[in-house]
Amino acid sequence: MEKTLSRGFGGPLQYIQGPGELNNLVKYTADYGSRVLVLIDASLFEAISAKLEESFGKTESKVKCIAGEGECCWKEINRVMDISKAFQSEVIVGVGGGKTMDTAKMVAEQLALPKVICPTSASSDAPTSALSVMYSDEGVHMGSIFFKKHAELVLLDTDIILSAPPRLFIAGMGDALATYFEAHAILDSDTPNHIGSGYKPTRLAAAIADLCYEILLERGEFALECVKRGVLTSAVEDVIEANTLLSGLGFENTGCVTAHGVHSGLTILPETAPFFHGEKVAFGIVVEMVLENRPTDEIDKIMRFMVSVGLPVTLEQFNVALTEENIEAIADKSLKSTLVSLEPFEVNMKNLVAAIKGADILGKKYLKTVK
Ligand SMILES: [Zn+2]
Repeated sequence: MEKTLSRGFGGPLQYIQGPGELNNLVKYTADYGSRVLVLIDASLFEAISAKLEESFGKTESKVKCIAGEGECCWKEINRVMDISKAFQSEVIVGVGGGKTMDTAKMVAEQLALPKVICPTSASSDAPTSALSVMYSDEGVHMGSIFFKKHAELVLLDTDIILSAPPRLFIAGMGDALATYFEAHAILDSDTPNHIGSGYKPTRLAAAIADLCYEILLERGEFALECVKRGVLTSAVEDVIEANTLLSGLGFENTGCVTAHGVHSGLTILPETAPFFHGEKVAFGIVVEMVLENRPTDEIDKIMRFMVSVGLPVTLEQFNVALTEENIEAIADKSLKSTLVSLEPFEVNMKNLVAAIKGADILGKKYLKTVK
């Protein structure tokens, strides 16, 4: 029986993506206020702050650019909040990777100010979500804080995204590809989504997950070749949209299941620490396909795609030895994440251990055959 008939859908107020769009930031923030605080990743600070100071300098708006100082933790949030209060900010902008975007979201939330989020890579679907991943001041992962409100604007400058390392673009495709599998498991198990207190996913959310899958499989390989050569084609723009907007709206409006559960499981082994979120999720997709006993032709299509774009599909690729101890540790931590329990059937130690081993067998087979 269906748990609820009420449907819910949410997302950022606006999403804008294109080459050179960061130069238009002042035009967009002017809708919300004239005093703009911009938190920027330290590695990109010089280039981006110079650009912004120049474009704001031609207008009535005032900008204050500051460099991020590490994890999204209370120490960093309080530091940025103090600067923001002294500057009397009316809008908060975060430009950079996960830590910077999450800190900017938290600061805006604490000060009840409009937020603009500008990711500088297409490595995950975090930019569009209404949550921040929190760390302790000592750098230990503490979990996520969910907000009632999404960003006023998610702004992507695709010239900047194109100049990020291609591995980030590949990882983003791993995170985005999971959306389709996880959305369908959530729909099958009739699990409430992440909107408000949790609603039945809309038909739109399911269509978004399907479109995300379609774009990756049709355009992913070509888009990656273009990214590697620094060529901004419509295929690259399509995949950036899939990695960021479609994947983001897809996961928040449906949910995460085994692919992300196994991602969490892999984090128990220190060997996997140097790997990106989307890379761990990619191996999680293989486990989910084995666990759900997906059709052979679908598995074949996905495995060929993942191997051809360079997403990891075996434990060896994470430098993890294939021992019973390691596999049980991954399965145990995956089960503890509770995401795997949202599959439409029972997931336990036995079937999950078998699925992880099966995924590795499958991965090895395709690594050998796909060039
Ligand atoms: Zn993810």
